[in-house]
Amino acid sequence: MRVKIRKGDTVEVISGRLEDKGKRGEVINVMMKENRVVVQGVGIRTKHQRQVQTQAGRNVNPGRIQFEGPIDISNVMLVCPKCNEAARVRIQRDEAGAHRVCKSCEQLID
Ligand SMILES: [Zn+2]
Repeated sequence: MRVKIRKGDTVEVISGRLEDKGKRGEVINVMMKENRVVVQGVGIRTKHQRQVQTQAGRNVNPGRIQFEGPIDISNVMLVCPKCNEAARVRIQRDEAGAHRVCKSCEQLID
């Protein structure tokens, strides 16, 4: 099972939509079941919003709302915080649990 990408990680988009390729951003949500992630600034979708009133009585302005849509987890690669490369990681297990190790610089990520 893929548990190599977690919320808060920085990832680089390696495939998928052309306009997103090469972009880096922070993972803001991981949807394990769907194998999808939401990455800040990536997979931007536009929703057309009509003027609505929320339960709190505030008006939400009509117009276009841009938000990040989920993208396939296989389209992103973890950016190693140690060497700043989009790197493959391997899992190393010891008494303390499972740790991620960057295959590029061999440093422990966490
Ligand atoms: Zn590294």
